[in-house]
Amino acid sequence: MVAVTQQNQPEFVLPDVTLRIGSTTRSTGAQTHEHINPATGRPDAAVPMASTADVNEAVRIAQEAFSVWKATPAVQRGRALLKLADLVEEHTAEFAALATADNGAPTMTARNMVSASAEWIRYYGGWADKLPLGRITSVAGAGGSFGHTLRQPYGVIGVVITWNAPLMSLAMKIPAALAAGNTVVVKPSELTPFSAMLFADLVHEAGIPDGVFNVVTGGAEAGATLVSHPLVKKVSFTGGPETARKITAACAQTFKPVLLELGGKSANVVFADADLDAAALHAAFMAFGIMTGQACALPTRLLVQDSIHDEFAAKVATIAASFKVGSPHELDTVCGPVINQSAIDRIEAMMAKAREDGASVLTGGARLGGELAEGFYYPPTVVADVDRESELALQEVFGPVLAVMRFSDEADAVALANSTDYGLSGYLWTSDAKRAVRVAEQLETGEVVVNGAPSAVAERPFGGIGHSGNGNEGGLEGLEEFFWTKSVAYGTI
Ligand code: NAD
Repeated sequence: MVAVTQQNQPEFVLPDVTLRIGSTTRSTGAQTHEHINPATGRPDAAVPMASTADVNEAVRIAQEAFSVWKATPAVQRGRALLKLADLVEEHTAEFAALATADNGAPTMTARNMVSASAEWIRYYGGWADKLPLGRITSVAGAGGSFGHTLRQPYGVIGVVITWNAPLMSLAMKIPAALAAGNTVVVKPSELTPFSAMLFADLVHEAGIPDGVFNVVTGGAEAGATLVSHPLVKKVSFTGGPETARKITAACAQTFKPVLLELGGKSANVVFADADLDAAALHAAFMAFGIMTGQACALPTRLLVQDSIHDEFAAKVATIAASFKVGSPHELDTVCGPVINQSAIDRIEAMMAKAREDGASVLTGGARLGGELAEGFYYPPTVVADVDRESELALQEVFGPVLAVMRFSDEADAVALANSTDYGLSGYLWTSDAKRAVRVAEQLETGEVVVNGAPSAVAERPFGGIGHSGNGNEGGLEGLEEFFWTKSVAYGTI
């Protein structure tokens, strides 16, 4: 256990990382993964790597709990989720500290994510007893027979998540699955084990029966065992495309459905008629101020109309350069560390390639040293003159690097925005309402955000197409992911 001090916060002790299976809290006798604190570069915990036997046991327990949870009155399921939302909110300071330890999330970002997570849980708690359970498909009459659909929970859902927003990822998946009557085994990323520990404690405190929510900590092997287990009836995954390919291939063996929330290289299209001050602040904050550029839906390609390009790019670079980069424990820090040394290596390699490809760096562009040398700190980096065909234009960095490109007119903007394999989010800024409607319709993405509307809110579906995945989290669509439809017809009744 390691004590962590946050500015204006009492000393905080990291929880032991354990497997949470049914009513048991256990370590595994097998291997552990050394967790490295991204802010200091130093180890601070041993993460148990679940064995095949551990994963099998978790799935068996979840399957047993399914019959209990499915039969629990929906209003009671909903009430437990609403209580969980309140408990999560009551533990904001602890969750924020855990997120900071998990992945170096700056405290203010982490707190905002706790509020957002509570809202997602509350949203699906509200749905639990209002579920659209089915519909009448035909009525009995001359020559016809009465028929209806039943929407049924799958059973055990296997959830595998990544490291950039561990609590938020849980909140985007677990409440919807549980509201629909499923049970869950979740495998958090081995890089971020802490948030799931407190979440599991609060699930228990909220009165959700043991075995409905289980956690197996571990890496790729535990994830692979979980997704291919025959009693796991659906998989919900958040992570990268390479892993998604492996999971999809594993699930194809039994034709298991898979929800995939993958990466993005989202365009932020700024037309000359936009509110440029608001657009510049949004462009800089969204690229760097949310998890230091490490989130899937961020606008990491800034497409600017020719006539305002130079002035606008300079404005964004000035704002970016003003963001405080430093200890995630300090309340005014906007950008913390990136997750680990491999992230630094990837960012540095992509920046070297961008320079080779003729790009110019307006701000940032080199790892930070001095008192930040031991952690994994890379500053907000704005890169202009990015070649449309280059790696930086087309591939996800997953770090604080914003690629700026210019466009001539609306058709050019749309073509450039749609030129990657990804299709998660699209952002656009214009004061012309007709253009906003036209461009929103043409962007090949799962969501479009106009003039700075908030994204990833619980009531709206969120999900990608192409290399960004398939399926939705959020909204009624996010709930429907956790049902299968049975069609029932009666000869006579
Ligand atoms: P990753 O794919 O390497 O790992 C994600 C999870 O999968 C981890 O828990 C890992 O242990 C597990 N895993 C690895 N191999 C596995 C296998 N063969 N079978 C089962 N599980 C396995 O992803 P990453 O590099 O940690 O995360 C970064 C990616 O996640 C980026 O591409 C980012 O855009 C994406 N992401 C997407 C969203 C979204 O909602 N769309 C949100 C956050 C991050």
